[in-house]
Amino acid sequence: MENRFINEILSIYSKIDVQVEAFRSAVKLHCLSGCGICCTSTKVEANAIELLPLAQELFHRGEAEFWMERAQAAHYEGACIFYDPKPQRMAIGHCRFYAWRPSVCRLFGFSKVKDKTGKPKLAACIIQKNIMPYVIEKAEKSVSHGMHYPGLTNFFLQIMGMTHQAVLCQLTERFTWHLRNTVWKFK
Ligand code: SF4
Ligand code: SF4
Repeated sequence: MENRFINEILSIYSKIDVQVEAFRSAVKLHCLSGCGICCTSTKVEANAIELLPLAQELFHRGEAEFWMERAQAAHYEGACIFYDPKPQRMAIGHCRFYAWRPSVCRLFGFSKVKDKTGKPKLAACIIQKNIMPYVIEKAEKSVSHGMHYPGLTNFFLQIMGMTHQAVLCQLTERFTWHLRNTVWKFK
């Protein structure tokens, strides 16, 4: 049976995707085709709640134990365990569980952050900055003129605001606890 709590998280993910797509198509900013650098970084952070949809999916597929073992063996080192370095079809990308990835992965490339004075600004990926500086410049201009773009903090707070319901998913939470502690670091 689908868990209402997990559906709420997926609904937040859908909102992120809609906002990312709107911004992306307006300014033509996108990840480089085939680039999976973010997924090979050991600095990607997520929390257990964000991983619940993925954990549930793995339980449904009967793969939870397999991935749990991989997560424990990884122990903070190397690429994300869900990263596929040689996907069969590049169109589907490097993430083996793309539809269930946490919010941070949905905002690879750009996101709203605050500068030293607390003013919102666009944080863009260094690769994109080097390869498509004009696109980045256009995106920054659009942002400075008030164009809406997604911010990780807003969505993160929405997800964290749901934690009082996390008790509904003890099984998956236990699994994601391991994922969190072995693959992603918790802020
Ligand atoms: S969950 Fe997917 S998108 Fe996120 S770091 Fe892992 S492989 Fe990359
Ligand atoms: S955000 Fe940048 S480094 Fe990360 S996958 Fe996209 S293009 Fe590559």
